[in-house]
Amino acid sequence: MSSSTARLPFDMPMNGILRFPRSDGSPKKRPTVTKENAPPGVLNYMELVPHDDKRNKDWRDKVGNFLMTLLPIDPARHVSYRIAEFPQHYALYSKPRMSGITEQRDDLYLYGSRYVNNFRSPAEFAFHALWLMMDPTLNVSNCECQWCTRTPQKELSRRLGTKVDHYSSGTDKQRSQYDASGFGEAGSDTPMASPVQDPAEEAQSKLRDNPPYRVGEMVWAHLRPPIVGESDDETLQCWPAIVLDVTTRPLWTGTSMDRQPAVKLRLLGVAYVAQVEAFDVLPYHAYALSPGLQSYMSNAKPENIVDASAFHRLSEIQVFPDSQHDQRPRQVTFDRGWPAWLKGLVASWWVRDRWSLSRTISLTAGEAVPPSLRAESRSASATPSGTHQPVAADAIWWGPEQIWVGDVVRLRRSAIVDSTILAFISNGAGGRGLFLKVKKIQARRVDNPRDVWLSGTLYETIPEQDADHSSPGSPTKIETGSGLDVSSLSSLVALPSLPDPLPDSLPDPPLGFKFKSVLSPTNTIFVSLESVAGRYYPYLLFSPVLGAIRKTNPVRPEQLMSLCGHAPGDVWPANLPPMHRERKEMWDELEEEVREFLMPRWKVGARALKAERRT
Ligand SMILES: [Zn+2]
Repeated sequence: MSSSTARLPFDMPMNGILRFPRSDGSPKKRPTVTKENAPPGVLNYMELVPHDDKRNKDWRDKVGNFLMTLLPIDPARHVSYRIAEFPQHYALYSKPRMSGITEQRDDLYLYGSRYVNNFRSPAEFAFHALWLMMDPTLNVSNCECQWCTRTPQKELSRRLGTKVDHYSSGTDKQRSQYDASGFGEAGSDTPMASPVQDPAEEAQSKLRDNPPYRVGEMVWAHLRPPIVGESDDETLQCWPAIVLDVTTRPLWTGTSMDRQPAVKLRLLGVAYVAQVEAFDVLPYHAYALSPGLQSYMSNAKPENIVDASAFHRLSEIQVFPDSQHDQRPRQVTFDRGWPAWLKGLVASWWVRDRWSLSRTISLTAGEAVPPSLRAESRSASATPSGTHQPVAADAIWWGPEQIWVGDVVRLRRSAIVDSTILAFISNGAGGRGLFLKVKKIQARRVDNPRDVWLSGTLYETIPEQDADHSSPGSPTKIETGSGLDVSSLSSLVALPSLPDPLPDSLPDPPLGFKFKSVLSPTNTIFVSLESVAGRYYPYLLFSPVLGAIRKTNPVRPEQLMSLCGHAPGDVWPANLPPMHRERKEMWDELEEEVREFLMPRWKVGARALKAERRT
């Protein structure tokens, strides 16, 4: 190579010893669970590998050798090279393998980088090490390592002349990863699916086995462990995502193959699809970001986002592993991940604020909503009437949720406009919540929520042991999403076909209660879309994620109780999405909308640096 040694940005090696002249390290970038702080019983902790340990020396030898193949200097003959130390604030850790006594080798991880959570081999670290040696500006966009550029390690290894790193996964998996996890406070007492004894365990099993999510809905994916920055505010606990599929995946329990409910997700702001354990997913309304994270996000600016392609590259991070058998720690750090997360958050606002009817058919005059309601909706609407054909719909995209004909939805108090109905509500039931079993969705206009009406049977809940003289129908299995397997969001407009006639069945009632129809089960009431509080999530309170995030989740317990039917809809109603937009159009516009929203904000006051290339 041609560079003159006088201009090299590092000191020439002496006796084969290379030294890093600078570091991107931070003392806070260390493993979450170490031998020192691991709770009793947690064995998958990280243990520091000291400088004089043979494994530490072996790593430094290899990094030195790789550097000598990459640096613009010629190695001296008969000299073996190594790095004297890892870069400042870096440290090597080992994680004991759990997969059995035959395999003695521990996995080693190099921690400390501000930009890459850890490196798993000297070859993986080689190009990052080269960047530290060569770039006095420490501009990470100059780093060519696998994690800073997402160049496949295969390609980098080819350039290094080494084999691709191979990792064999352990086999000590439990039925639910929560059972084995040291993370998540509720994780340790998550029961196995069977046999079930007490009602809470049974409720949790039901939630696990019947994930209540639907294809196309927006949810939160729990990050286990969270992505942690330098302060408490800089903590990503959940990632906004769109459900692509609700499925099961094979799971090795240690003795046999089992199936585990799983959800395939498009993480918003991230270019990759992830599949996670269904238990790691929360309904959108069950989580919100903390005020601290909110203020961090409104002030932070990523550097060097000069054009659309730089903006797009922010999304090229991997948040979840490719397979559930990959137990290695996550690579992405807070510094690397937050811009993508913020893109996802902005995208989630777009989804949250839009609604539309799906699969509509025109109605003839005779089928339209009752005249009394038509008169009322005319007065509520500012638009002249009579120009729109009434329609019936199978479903409503209602911000993050999709409400189907056949659902039992939570109602707001305003749903009961007819005061004579109030007289029929049982003592105390009004304080728990009212529900509508949706039989029909009809609209006088498709783009005004005041003109959309849901009709069906009104339900309340009464204590399980109380006598009920109505016939509420039999409980049924919770419906899950269809088996669509798509990664393009714009195709997420399909609906599973609804049975005709609809089964006269109800979801499981809130634990300890039963559904009772307020009027007779055949008595139909009409409810304006504005009076719907949102979907009903039986057993949601038993989600282990809610326990794990409860310290920072601003959604309060009584609001969670509302989502699962123990408190009225008015305690935690879904906000009326202000914009009418067809789903397909919304998905098609989303990426551009997010870019147009964020890029001007990120540019203001930001140093408009062009990526510097070293010579
Ligand atoms: Zn790098």
